[in-house]
Amino acid sequence: RAKEDGRGTYRFFQPEMDARLQRRRTIELDLRAADFDQEFDVVFQPIVNIHTLQVTTLEALLRWPGCRHGPVKTEEIIAIAEDTGLIVNLGEWVLERACRAAANLPGELNFAVNLSPTQFMRGDVVEMVSRVLAATGFPANRLELEVTETLLLEDSQRSSCALRDLRALGVRISLDDFGTGYSSLGYLRKYTVDKIKIDRSFVEQISTNQDHMAIVHAIVSLAHALGMKTTAEGIETEDQLEIVRATGCDEVQGYLFSPPKSLADVTDFLGNRRSKSAAA
Ligand code: C2E
Ligand code: MG
Ligand code: MG
Ligand code: MG
Repeated sequence: RAKEDGRGTYRFFQPEMDARLQRRRTIELDLRAADFDQEFDVVFQPIVNIHTLQVTTLEALLRWPGCRHGPVKTEEIIAIAEDTGLIVNLGEWVLERACRAAANLPGELNFAVNLSPTQFMRGDVVEMVSRVLAATGFPANRLELEVTETLLLEDSQRSSCALRDLRALGVRISLDDFGTGYSSLGYLRKYTVDKIKIDRSFVEQISTNQDHMAIVHAIVSLAHALGMKTTAEGIETEDQLEIVRATGCDEVQGYLFSPPKSLADVTDFLGNRRSKSAAA
């Protein structure tokens, strides 16, 4: 074997590749065997109205604190769950968690839940969403489902029907990470969505990069012209907030306001903000 390794790149990459594949395989096996209620968790990140700074929505995000292979990024879990089709069950579990959490929170907050294209392709997502809404009693008009541009590429007939049927239930649709995929402005006309979430990568350098500001401004104008709302993701500084506000964007989300928090912590956070604004 040592002899075969004589050719440079092969020897260099092989061990690293093996380790990555190995990790992926063990995570996949654990994911298949996992008891969702025992091992997974859902955290919630506030989305804030840019004018009033009031929290309008909580975005539900998956976490796997019970993973035996140490910290694992949510993106990694989702990618494996998509490849294996496990996302169909896991995604339903997240939605149900979010809808049940809503019952424990005061007020009329909206909840946002991410849906993967695989849930549209391998499952009946419309049936699943109606089932969870019925089981939890959560009102459809307070639910936002976040989909990515990839969905619109995959099977346009099937996904446009599903999106239309979801909206007929009273649910709103947001286009997540907008600007990173194969964005085509044509999609915005063809698939009716309610909201565009402008990807964090545009916000990241918005205070130093004029082009990014111009892009955000253009996305917001286009969205408004088509009757859609906009949210800017990944706001970390006051500077970014001010520039994004000047673009006319409607909502913001990011560490400046709050990282994703457990249900208990986000409940405290909302309570504190409420008593602060009452005192002011
Ligand atoms: P996303 O839907 O775009 O969610 C926003 C991500 O940005 C979250 O990462 C959040 O923690 C992070 N974030 C929020 N504010 C800031 C900020 O100010 N700065 C920085 N650097 N990051 C910020 P997270 O939780 O790791 O999730 C990553 C992605 O995984 C999500 O991106 C979403 O695409 C996917 N995901 C998470 N939960 C689910 C789920 O239940 N189902 C599906 N299908 N996908 C999920
Ligand atoms: Mg999202
Ligand atoms: Mg996003
Ligand atoms: Mg993202």
